[in-house]
Amino acid sequence: MRSISIFGATGSIGESTFDLITRAGGADAFRTVALTGGQNVVRLAQMARILRAEIAVCADPRGLPALRDALAGSGIEVAAGADAIAEAADRPADWVMSAIVGAAGLVPGLRALRHGKTLALANKESLVTAGPLLMAEAARHGARILPVDSEHSAIFQGLVGEDIAAVERIILTASGGALRDWPLEALANATVTEALAHPNWAMGQRITIDSASMFNKALEVIETREYFGISPDQIEVIIHPESLIHSMVGFRDGAIMAHMGAPDMRHSIGYALNWPERRDIPVARLDLAQIATLSFRAPDMARYPALRLCRDVMRTRGLAGAAFNAAKEVALDHFLAGGIGFMDMAGVVEDTLARLLSDLCLESDVITLEEIQGADHLARRRAGEFAVARSMAQGRMPKIDA
Ligand code: NAD
Ligand code: MG
Repeated sequence: MRSISIFGATGSIGESTFDLITRAGGADAFRTVALTGGQNVVRLAQMARILRAEIAVCADPRGLPALRDALAGSGIEVAAGADAIAEAADRPADWVMSAIVGAAGLVPGLRALRHGKTLALANKESLVTAGPLLMAEAARHGARILPVDSEHSAIFQGLVGEDIAAVERIILTASGGALRDWPLEALANATVTEALAHPNWAMGQRITIDSASMFNKALEVIETREYFGISPDQIEVIIHPESLIHSMVGFRDGAIMAHMGAPDMRHSIGYALNWPERRDIPVARLDLAQIATLSFRAPDMARYPALRLCRDVMRTRGLAGAAFNAAKEVALDHFLAGGIGFMDMAGVVEDTLARLLSDLCLESDVITLEEIQGADHLARRRAGEFAVARSMAQGRMPKIDA
């Protein structure tokens, strides 16, 4: 019986993973080792009972008593906090889903790789923050990383049986997010609710806002480089409003392989779950005659500064990815709290990167987890300062961290 763990089980990707696991037989077909969640301990406990998990861990220690109550008499172990999540990743499992949101997913992912497991990686932030470290860890332990991000799953599938040397370019598709048809001048005043109205994909709150700002696509450009080792100038981004082509690989003979399907993450989660086989996945089938047309347009760089910033990050490499991701997470926190405007997110990230170039050697070659965490920490502090300064300048109520 295959053993599995799901990190971030209560999120959008976690729920879709749970759905596929239960449809594939649940506790009768899989031995579930660990399930982790954030604050929603009621749902976490419910999932743990259904899959008869060994251990359920919530990120927030304040949730532990409620988690313990909800699992009383089940024989399922409970724990809480970031260290407990990392320890849960030390429990061997054949297949591990990494679906925590943000840099918090890095350490559990790294620890899971140490057991030579298959890591289904939704948490793109860990590759952006520490791609070389993660890849080295996988190679050292003979573990495999399978992409879950829809674009990277599409590219991975487009490369089956191909030589990476024959690839001329990779074309990442982007929906353009909720605000793609807004006039540029109006973007500065976009609210959280407006940015959350994604046209095609139902996702967690943070990635939905990142789609509207294209920070998500910026992370994915870096993610592409880390997964496939391709040069940044071979990675293109195109807006494809229908979100039916999940990405494309262009070869030296001019051929383009495109991956199509309904915008449902169960495609790529299921591919990673069943790899190297393909099994039935309950996603909607495309009716091409009804779809009739697919459209494409080049992204406007004035509208999406994140797409420019990710190029700077790839030029610098080293610790720049960690700083970029951390600054982006903080800027997003401040936008969600109403402290800064929509376009200020890119401003905060840009200010932080410029400042950090003088604060730390972003280009250092040897990158340890400690260095990455140091850069992450410093970038968070600086980004917080820049965000508060912007709030004050605009007469908004700044978000002050505890
Ligand atoms: P989500 O916010 O819906 O869920 C995140 C999960 O992580 C939840 O279980 C939450 O409780 C947990 N969590 C949050 N903060 C935590 C912390 N500090 N420590 C431990 N656990 C924590 O997010 P999501 O949309 O499911 O995205 C998960 C990851 O997958 C992200 O990295 C995202 O970029 C990536 N991803 C998501 C989608 C999508 O369609 N949702 C698509 C591609 C990639
Ligand atoms: Mg994606």
